[in-house]
Amino acid sequence: MTPGADIFLGIGGNLGDRRETMRSAVRQVRSVLDEVRVSSLYESDAWGVTDQPDFLNAVVRGKTTLEPLELLDALQAIENQLGRVREQHWGPRAIDIDILLYGSQKIDEPRLTVPHPYMTQRGFVLRPLADLAAGLTLPDGSLVGELLTTVSQNDLRRIEGPGWAD
Ligand code: ATP
Ligand code: CA
Ligand code: CA
Repeated sequence: MTPGADIFLGIGGNLGDRRETMRSAVRQVRSVLDEVRVSSLYESDAWGVTDQPDFLNAVVRGKTTLEPLELLDALQAIENQLGRVREQHWGPRAIDIDILLYGSQKIDEPRLTVPHPYMTQRGFVLRPLADLAAGLTLPDGSLVGELLTTVSQNDLRRIEGPGWAD
């Protein structure tokens, strides 16, 4: 078995060739995480700041021996490499990679909050997360499959199976 913590990442983007950028992001994440598995690909209406193009979303699972902040650095380097520019919070972006879960750790640091603070409110996170781990328990004891029943999936469309990133 590969050593390291079980990691779940949320990946999204709504600018440019969204699918190609998502595929590039997964390709690069494969150099950071071991044993990578990828959810189906979803399209969602924008959340928070709603006056912007629809997003593509997916969740990636893997393992790493990197420390949490080292992992964040590596993921931000991928975002930058794929053309992410720091802009309006919750605004349009080519790619966004969030750390949803780092094993069963709770992390509360200036640069990093884990579990991701909004993940339990977002259908575009919980649905692809449930593809990979419906039986997973969050650090607070809640079950992913049950959380999924508490959020709206009206604005979420599954557009491709897990092979989209191959
Ligand atoms: P949201 O976090 O609500 O999804 P966002 O993804 O649009 O919003 P960003 O502008 O991408 O927010 O990130 C702002 C900062 O959030 C990052 O620079 C990073 O330091 C910090 N951050 C805190 N917790 C996390 C996390 N779990 N994953 C990724 N970044 C995080
Ligand atoms: Ca985000
Ligand atoms: Ca982010």
